[in-house]
Amino acid sequence: MEILDSIPFDVDAHEVLRRAHLTKADADITQGARELIEQARQVARPKVVYEVCYVENKRTDSLELAGITFTSRVLRMNLDQVQRIFAYVATCGTELTEISAPAGDMLLDYCLDIIKEMALRTAMAHLRKHLETRYALGQTSSMNPGSLEDWPITQQNELFSIFGDVEKLIGVRLSDSFLMIPTKSVSGIIFPTQVRFESCQLCPREVCPSRRAAFDSSLAEQYGIEVAGTAGEIH
Ligand code: SF4
Repeated sequence: MEILDSIPFDVDAHEVLRRAHLTKADADITQGARELIEQARQVARPKVVYEVCYVENKRTDSLELAGITFTSRVLRMNLDQVQRIFAYVATCGTELTEISAPAGDMLLDYCLDIIKEMALRTAMAHLRKHLETRYALGQTSSMNPGSLEDWPITQQNELFSIFGDVEKLIGVRLSDSFLMIPTKSVSGIIFPTQVRFESCQLCPREVCPSRRAAFDSSLAEQYGIEVAGTAGEIH
């Protein structure tokens, strides 16, 4: 198991203001946002924990990763020819959750949310680069428990159990409904693949700002499953 907790991250102020649709006309709000950005710069510490796992005991709709059983037909089919995967949890870091916008200021709250999401994306990009460099990976895809009905969010428990005490390691814990806290966190597996796979291809959700690929009903048919989208952060 490895922890990546020295991930370079500098908040791009221009990007935060652009995404929050703040213009020069909103001088007070823009100043508030700049102060938040400065605070975030001082404390932000995105983190990742990952583990190299071997795929074993493949059955019809399940398999084992690190000796723990996962049940999902899509996961099983995607890992049919795969021997080794990388399980991970990435987060914006608890440090950013200790900053708050002035009470009731929804726009500044939104700016803070954008900053946390940027920190999470930076953590994920750092993980991918790290894996590419260290393990000489070619093309990869990823899957996340809860992104499809076929791989339910309840399997977050199994995924987290690969690492032991994730809260102690990088500050991420699961709520009673298996959501991650801090919310700007993401968990899943990265695996080598010949043909790029995105869960979005099997997800018919009509409105999703995070969609990365169009829904493909014929691909869903090939997987032989009925699929339904779920709310998510970054799958
Ligand atoms: S379309 Fe949205 S909800 Fe569906 S899998 Fe993709 S990111 Fe998740």
